[in-house]
Amino acid sequence: MTHCPECGAPAEPRSCEELFQVLLALDHSRQPPWGPLHGVSVSCFLLQHPARIPGADAAPPWSLLHAYLRDGLDGANRRIRHARRGNSHRHPGGFVPAVPEVAAPDVDRPPARFAVTIADVAGGGDFPAEGFAGRVRDWAAATVDAWTSRPG
Ligand SMILES: [Zn+2]
Repeated sequence: MTHCPECGAPAEPRSCEELFQVLLALDHSRQPPWGPLHGVSVSCFLLQHPARIPGADAAPPWSLLHAYLRDGLDGANRRIRHARRGNSHRHPGGFVPAVPEVAAPDVDRPPARFAVTIADVAGGGDFPAEGFAGRVRDWAAATVDAWTSRPG
């Protein structure tokens, strides 16, 4: 059996890319539980496949996952709205934000594996609604965990 070189998930019967396309189609239906978790799902997928991160800047998905794990979906959505307003999340001039920013990891040194991958979230391959939110939460936690604890 072959595995994804980035996240370590089994590449069969469906590759990460194929699963991601299934997940995006569900997200774009805007139906719960998938639609509301779209930003979290994409952030998990990007951080487990860092070659795809736009501009190799891990800060947006990294900040979103931290907000989600700390404050739940509301926190993540506030983060998305904040980003969409185009505000910089850097704070020049010594202004200290109420919630400290968490430094984004260096995408050149990704973790070798993750305890939870998109294959786990997919269940049989179609991302069943039952338990989906919990699996995404595990996915997010495993993603942050692996990046945080990888050997220096
Ligand atoms: Zn993968």
